[in-house]
Amino acid sequence: MTIARVALPVAVDKLFDYWVPAGLDLAAGAVVRVRLGGRRLAGVVHALADDSDVAREALQPIDEVAGLPALADDVRDLAGFVASYYQSSLGLAYALAMPPLAHGAGPRERPGGVRLSDAGREALPRSLARAPAQRALLARMASSPTGGLTADEVRALPKASRRVLARWRREGWLVAGAHRAEPVAPRLNDAQRRAADAIVGSRGAFAPLLLQGVTGSGKTEVYLAAAASFVADGGQVLLLVPEINLTPQLTSRVADALPRARTVTLHSALPDGARRANWEAAARGEADIVLGTRLAVFAPLPRLALVVVDEEHDTSFKQHDGVRYHARDAAVWRARRRGVPVVLGSATPSLESYAHADAGRYRRLVLAQRADPRAAFPEVRLVPARGPLVRDGLSDALLAAIGERLRRGEQSLVFVNRRGFAPSLKCPACGWQAGCPRCSARLTAHRAPSALLCHHCGHRERVPAACPSCGNVDLAARGHGTQRLEAALAQAFPQARIARVDRDSTRSARAFDDVRERVRDNAIDLLIGTQMLAKGHDFPRLTLVGVLGADNALYSADFRATERTAALLMQVAGRAGRADLPGEVVVQTDFPGHPLFAAVVRHDYDALARDVLAEREAAGLPPFAHLALLTAEAHRREDVDRFCEAAHARAAAAARQHRAVEVFPPVPAALARRAGYERAQMLLRSRQRNELKAVLDALRTALADAGTRRVRHAIDVDPQSLA
Ligand code: ADP
Ligand code: ZN
Ligand code: ZN
Repeated sequence: MTIARVALPVAVDKLFDYWVPAGLDLAAGAVVRVRLGGRRLAGVVHALADDSDVAREALQPIDEVAGLPALADDVRDLAGFVASYYQSSLGLAYALAMPPLAHGAGPRERPGGVRLSDAGREALPRSLARAPAQRALLARMASSPTGGLTADEVRALPKASRRVLARWRREGWLVAGAHRAEPVAPRLNDAQRRAADAIVGSRGAFAPLLLQGVTGSGKTEVYLAAAASFVADGGQVLLLVPEINLTPQLTSRVADALPRARTVTLHSALPDGARRANWEAAARGEADIVLGTRLAVFAPLPRLALVVVDEEHDTSFKQHDGVRYHARDAAVWRARRRGVPVVLGSATPSLESYAHADAGRYRRLVLAQRADPRAAFPEVRLVPARGPLVRDGLSDALLAAIGERLRRGEQSLVFVNRRGFAPSLKCPACGWQAGCPRCSARLTAHRAPSALLCHHCGHRERVPAACPSCGNVDLAARGHGTQRLEAALAQAFPQARIARVDRDSTRSARAFDDVRERVRDNAIDLLIGTQMLAKGHDFPRLTLVGVLGADNALYSADFRATERTAALLMQVAGRAGRADLPGEVVVQTDFPGHPLFAAVVRHDYDALARDVLAEREAAGLPPFAHLALLTAEAHRREDVDRFCEAAHARAAAAARQHRAVEVFPPVPAALARRAGYERAQMLLRSRQRNELKAVLDALRTALADAGTRRVRHAIDVDPQSLA
C-alpha cells in the first residue's frame, strides 16, 4: 500500500501519514485534501512511502487531489528552507506556496491597453449615433496604428472616457492589449546599459547583484530591459515589489516595455480565482513575467531565469506573523537553488545588502545620476520643529513654502507619521492621561467621529467631558496627528483644496486610487498623509514635501529607525518635482546637525550607510551579528514570566554547546501589555548563523514540548525591530 506523507498547515512540526486509494495518481508535491481530527485541510504531499509507523487501521485515506500542478522541487526546497531557517513547521511554509484552492471568478487583471473586439467594431458605430464624445473615442481607436489605445494612452484620457471604456469592456466590445509591434521604452543611458548588460551577462548561474540607483535613475527601465532579454531567450522572470508598489502604473510599464510577454500578478489583494489562475499560468510556463508581492517568491516557475526584487529595503518584504520569512532573503536563496541571477534594487539599500556588496559577496551596480539629466535633486531644507516660529506643529518656513505653491498652482504634500487628531489627551491640572485599559499605551484622540482610540488593539471609548481624576474640564490634546494638521492647514489656507490620506480616511485601495486620481487631475492642492503616501507616488505638479515628526526616529528604541527614516526621507526627496518644476523638501527637526539629516540634505545615502554600519559593528548589531527574538504573551504576568524563565534556562543550556550564541535575559516588551495580554521577549544573538540556528532548534523543540495553552509564543529570526 502506498502511504503519502503530508505536510499540513498546522504549527506542529511533523508530517501526517495517509493511505493512497488505488487509482489516485499522486506524486510528491501534489496538493491534496485530507481529514485531520474533525477538520478538512489542504496540504502538500511531502513524500511517498511504502509503510508507516501508524497502524493500518488508524490511517485515513487521501480524500481528494486538487486539480493543480504539483509543487515543483525547487518550490518545495524553498519552503523547506523557510521552515527550517525561520523556525516554522514545514506545513505552514508549504501553505505559503499553495494557491487558493477555490475556483472563483477568473482573472480580473487591469489590461495594459485595449483594442476593439470584432463585436465592438460591429456594434459600436451603430449604437453611438447620438454620442459625439464616444464616437470620437471610437474613431481614435479605429484609426490608431496599434488598433486601440496603449496603457499610457488610456491613462491620459479624462475620467469620463475611461468610464466609457470600462463599460465597452463589460459589453465585450473591447479586449485587452493594443496590438503593438515595438516596445515603448526609453533608450537606456550608458550607466543603465552597463547595469542591464551586467545582469544579462550573468545569465545561467547564481549571481546576486545590488542595483543601487538614486531615485529617478531609471532602475525600473534596467529591470525591464534585462527582463526583455531573458524572456526573449525563453526564460521566466520573477519581479517582486513591495505591497504598495503594485500599482496599475507599474503593471502597465511592464506591458509597455514587453508588449508580447504574458505578465501575471500575484498578491494577496487579488480575488482567489484570479490568484489561482495566475498561479497556474506561472506553473505551466505560460506566464513570462510574474509580478508580485512577498508571497510571489513561492510562485512556480519552471523556466525561471531571473529574479528581481525592487525596493529591496522595503519592510513589507518581511512577514510579521505566522511564518516570519523575509521574501528578499528567500528570493536570494531561491536564485541560488535555481542557479539564476538575482537583482536587488534600491536607492537606499538595506544595510544587510549594502554590507554584502561592500564585502564583495554581491556585485554592486551603480546608477549615480537621474535618468533625466535636467532633473535636479530637490533642495532639502531643515527647519525647527519647535519654538516661537512653530504654530499647530507647523513651522513658519513650511507654511510660507506651501503658500508659495498655492500661488503658483503647484501641489504640496505634508507627511506626519501619526494618524488621528492628537496622540494623547492630558489633564494639565493633575497630569492624568487617557490610557488604554487593555494596553500599556495612550489613547489617540480622533475627530469626526470624535473618540479616543487605541492604535494597538482597536479599543474605542468616548472622549470624557472632564478629567476622570480631578474633574477639570479643560483637557489638552497633545501632539499632532493627521486630522489636527488638516484642520490647522484648512484654517491657514481656507481656499486650498485639501485631502487627507491615512488609514481612517482611505481604507480601501480604491479610495487611495481615487485620491491619486484627483491629485493627477489637479483637483487637490494640498495632501496630508502618513507613510501610506510616501512610496510609489508620482505626481508631476507636486513640488513641495514637508516632513513632520522625523525626530521620532532619533528617540526610537528600534535600532533600525535611523536607517528606515533615512530611506523614507530619501524616497520622499526623490519624488518631489521634475525637470521643469524643481522640487523642495522641508524637514522639521530639532537636530539639524544629526548625520541622518546631513546625509539627506546632501542626497548622500552612502555616507549615512557607512556611518550607521560603523555604529552597528561597534554595537554588535545586524548585519554584523544575527538576532532572533522570542516573544511570549499571556493573560497573567506570572505565566509569561515563568514561561520566559524556562525558555531562558533552556536556551542558555543549549548555548553552552554553542558558545558563539549569547542569550539575553527575558524582559517585558516595549509595549508590555497589549489587548489584555502581558508581553515579554528574549533576545538571542550570534555572529554565527548556524550556531544560532542550533540553539533555536533546541529552544523550539523544548517550547513545543512544554506546550502551554496559556502562553502564546513565537520565534522571530532576523527580526525587523526589537521594540
Ligand atoms: P527609478 O526606478 O530608479 O526610480 P524609473 O525607472 O522610475 O526610476 O525612471 C524615472 C523616470 O525616468 C521615469 O519617468 C522613466 O520613464 C525615465 N527614464 C528612465 N530611463 C530613462 C532614459 N534612459 N531616458 C529618458 N528617460 C528615462
Ligand atoms: Zn485632572
Ligand atoms: Zn489598546
